[in-house]
Amino acid sequence: MYNKLEYSSNNSNSQCSHNFNEKLGDYDKKFAVVNPTRMCQPMGAIQAMMGVKNAMPLIHGSQGCATYMRFQLIRHFREPIEVASTSLSEKTVIYGGEPNLLKALKNISEKQNPSMICVMSSCLTDTIGDDIAGIIEKFQDANIGIDLPEMVPISTPSYAGSHVEGYDKAILSLVEHFGIFSVPNSKINLIMGDLSPANVMEIKNLMNDLGCESIILTDTSKNLDAPLDEETLELHKYGTTMEELKDTPNSKATIALSKHVDSAGKYLECNFNVKSISGPLPVGIKNTDEFVNNICNVMGIDVPDSVERDRGRLKDVLVDAHAYNYRKKVAIYGDPDVVIAMARMVSEMGMLPEVLCVGVESPRFKEDVNELVNDINYQPVVLENKDLYDLEQVLSVNKVDLLIGNAYGASIAKKENIPLFRIGFPIFDRIGSQRISFLGYNGGIKFVDAITNMILDNYYDAEGYKIVEEEFSLDLVDEELS
Ligand code: SF4
Repeated sequence: MYNKLEYSSNNSNSQCSHNFNEKLGDYDKKFAVVNPTRMCQPMGAIQAMMGVKNAMPLIHGSQGCATYMRFQLIRHFREPIEVASTSLSEKTVIYGGEPNLLKALKNISEKQNPSMICVMSSCLTDTIGDDIAGIIEKFQDANIGIDLPEMVPISTPSYAGSHVEGYDKAILSLVEHFGIFSVPNSKINLIMGDLSPANVMEIKNLMNDLGCESIILTDTSKNLDAPLDEETLELHKYGTTMEELKDTPNSKATIALSKHVDSAGKYLECNFNVKSISGPLPVGIKNTDEFVNNICNVMGIDVPDSVERDRGRLKDVLVDAHAYNYRKKVAIYGDPDVVIAMARMVSEMGMLPEVLCVGVESPRFKEDVNELVNDINYQPVVLENKDLYDLEQVLSVNKVDLLIGNAYGASIAKKENIPLFRIGFPIFDRIGSQRISFLGYNGGIKFVDAITNMILDNYYDAEGYKIVEEEFSLDLVDEELS
């Protein structure tokens, strides 16, 4: 019996409660994850490395791990992506992967000359217990006097976390490895999370409008949305530099845009007294206000007129679009911070966040859901630690008007005849995924425009005034009367 669909909330204000047990009854109970809403842990770490200048990610594992990551990243970003592999085989699984890792470090250092090599473990190498930090030390000891790249080990076994944890660990490892306490700067460290280059650019533009300097951890904005270049196999020319990574303990504060990627912020706060702020993802009015207010409080500045104006423009588009979006039901799936931020955003648009599905179990997500339910007085169905198979079962009895999530939900959208607004990772069935933005006031405006136009396309007539279904029913009434 499927008995965990209803999210238990203590909130007595909840207007709606859903009990799907009766409606769903027994459905094929499964004992494995089917069509997950999460990716594997090294994938998140690699995405963090894509925003570091002249860095080379190296997966210590089988050839298949690196091929899978490259494949997903290339078809999403449609950019050349370099991910090296230690290419372990059956023999190395038995005798250990040390020779392969030593060889890979040598080859990459000599042939590609990166500033740093980030060595990520995989399920295999964490299971057999390879001591990656020890092997790196051995390599460095054997090459004393040679100018070697920096080498950063990151433990990312996929059975112990998702891509979100992988991203979080990568940023923490970079800050731990490079951070040096010296002269205070007047910057804010911004941990971006696993977001599109366009979203990173929105935040950079907003910081520019606020007149604040920042260290972006990490800055994928140019590397993953780059001009056509003949030098396709070069390492990334742009992104966060080693000097910036070294300077992180001297910043005024660290803001993690997503609550689940704040480990580096906590580390800097504990060790260097750098104030740490965790989320929420600046999507929509409330969350972006919180982000802007946090920046202004840290820097001791007022909100500039240009930012106030953009906020007003977002409010204006929310009002303009409200009549089309009002009470449309939305199902959202993906990373916890994105899902909860999107739920709040669609609420601000007058829509109902009907179903929220995340592939992990998280107390922070639970807290955020409770806060949202209190604020909007509406109880969504919450699927925690679930997959798209579960989501599909729910949607078969609980109809929604719109799906928001990555490309893996396209088959559900087609089957249920629901439009899918693609955000997140991966998006392989459309082009332009790196240019999708929804952060900040300006990103919010683009998002409201795009969602509302999708609603208009799917639920309104050609003139955009009447709901098509209503028109049909009125026609039928007219026919019956005549
Ligand atoms: S889940 Fe594990 S084995 Fe599979 S690609 Fe990821 S790291 Fe490699």
